[in-house]
Amino acid sequence: MADIIKLLPDHVANQIAAGEVVQRPASVVKELMENAIDAGASTIKLIIKDGGKTLIQVVDDGMGMSETDARLSFERHATSKITSAQDLFNLHTKGFRGEALASIAAIAHVDMQTRKEDSEVGVQLKIEGSKIVSQEVVATPKGTSISVKNLFFNIPARRNFLKSHQVELRHITDEFHRVALVHPNIEFHFYNNGSELFNLPKTKHRQRIAHIFGNRMEDRLVPVNEETEVVKISGFVCKPEFAKKSRGEQFFFANDRFIKSPYLHHAVTAAFEGLIKSDMYPGYFLYLEVDPSSIDINIHPTKTEVKFDDENTLYAILRSTVKHSLGQFNVAPVLDFDHDPNLDTPYAYKEKDAILPRVTVDASFNPFKETSESKGMGKSFQKTSVKGWEGMYEGLDKDIDVEEFSSVVIESESEVQGTLYTDEEVEERLAATFQLRRKYVMSTVRSGLLVIHQNRAHERILFEKFLGEITVKEGVSQQLLFPLELTFNKQELAVLNEIKESLTNIGFAFESLEHETVKVTGVPLVVPESGIGTVLDRLIADYMEGFNDGTLSQAEVLAKVLSKNLAIRTGEVLDQESQLALVNNLFACKEPSLSPFQKITYTIVSEGDIDKKFS
Ligand code: ADP
Ligand code: MG
Repeated sequence: MADIIKLLPDHVANQIAAGEVVQRPASVVKELMENAIDAGASTIKLIIKDGGKTLIQVVDDGMGMSETDARLSFERHATSKITSAQDLFNLHTKGFRGEALASIAAIAHVDMQTRKEDSEVGVQLKIEGSKIVSQEVVATPKGTSISVKNLFFNIPARRNFLKSHQVELRHITDEFHRVALVHPNIEFHFYNNGSELFNLPKTKHRQRIAHIFGNRMEDRLVPVNEETEVVKISGFVCKPEFAKKSRGEQFFFANDRFIKSPYLHHAVTAAFEGLIKSDMYPGYFLYLEVDPSSIDINIHPTKTEVKFDDENTLYAILRSTVKHSLGQFNVAPVLDFDHDPNLDTPYAYKEKDAILPRVTVDASFNPFKETSESKGMGKSFQKTSVKGWEGMYEGLDKDIDVEEFSSVVIESESEVQGTLYTDEEVEERLAATFQLRRKYVMSTVRSGLLVIHQNRAHERILFEKFLGEITVKEGVSQQLLFPLELTFNKQELAVLNEIKESLTNIGFAFESLEHETVKVTGVPLVVPESGIGTVLDRLIADYMEGFNDGTLSQAEVLAKVLSKNLAIRTGEVLDQESQLALVNNLFACKEPSLSPFQKITYTIVSEGDIDKKFS
């Protein structure tokens, strides 16, 4: 019988390997930038088009390659960085596998130009699907320029799997951050579709962070420094009051390599215990240096997961170092202590004179305001009065008096919801609503007991309101007496510009969106003035974080984000009028039964069910 095992041809093997190394355009960006750094570049330029799907180009002024090396660099397992297995335990370069270029060349059109400093001319190589299609002598600056076009041109399934340009751009930006943050001594430029996203001059770590994430970052950073036999830790944590609702700026680097480590993340979070609420995320930029032989970066092909020899010790050192820094720099938490007696004394306060929380007694005390403050939204918005809260319905019920609701409601109901209510039932329902555990609004209908989830119901109401406004551009804007100045970093600014039109449609007004300082001159009625910054911050964070996976329209994404952030929360006290408004506005919705996040908004406990309890 004939033998059936054959060695795979190289281009097939490369394509298979590419599946692991290159998941998306951002993976190419990472590999090319790391190669530029390994080549000793002092300036690196990243140029992309259409989220990297059309073009990814990295230009460096590093050591360049000879003609032979240039050809060899595209062979699998061809590397100049290690020569023996022993070298693996003493790595000082980013790359070592020698598979990146071979993989990339297997699944894209690659054009490389490179010249070593001491050669007169350089070489240009063009490779398509692992085959060298041309090689020429060229005049080119010292260093290497590699452009990667039409990624996955020969693997349609992969290509179709790519997300929208914006989403891919976001992944690329993440990789760019990770590389730029560890190499402040290298100058970086990043262009997307012809416009400059980042221009980072050579500097120190702290300024590099500020250049990337915005100048306001500078004042937020608390330095962290510690040197022990096991590890040297340097970097910064963000002051607790700037903790975010969503995972934002959290970076670990080990020996100049970005790493992910849930365990070490936990150590940092533990150091913040008592200083921030449990659902908030602290920001950090922490650089660890350990003996290269005590760390195994080999366990994952994309190389962000690592294994430390002595993780437990590292954990303990990290936690106490961060704690110490927070204490030393006298970082006082800004929290609402008034409403949460269970909070521990924060670390920074121990052994210090107690500062009494400021308590102001308000004669026109309003329970609504109190609860919205107590639910831990930090510096976030407060609904200042019941009136203000009613403003949330502005637009939906513009011309309708609360008293007149019933008739209007019935009309729209009979279209979509037909059988839920009859006139009599509405009468009955209006007569009695009450709130259960600050979570549900209860009412009766003919068939039984109506239980509405206040948070989800309000999300649905706001979602439809905003969706309508974004598409028909009828949002009511409230002009600010004093325009508000907010600072954003380049990335945030890019998002703002992306969603500007929709924001304007629902009532936001901006004076200019070109520079880091943005003047807000108007806001939708539902956004209280004190909360503008927070709402915009969340909007940007949520928008970036992935509601936008390409399946929803921008209007839907924004309406979702806004409704999530502005809806009445669980735990808020609602007065009678607000309860009524909630019930009526919910059933005026096109799809009252589900929240925008596909959760049930209300249920009816039937008379039969109740009867059963008594049988
Ligand atoms: P690795 O980085 O793991 O060695 P790569 O496939 O990324 O593998 O690169 C192969 C080799 O090509 C590198 O070892 C290096 O010698 C050379 N090389 C790649 N990119 C550059 C560059 N920008 N400048 C100089 N040499 C490079
Ligand atoms: Mg490499």
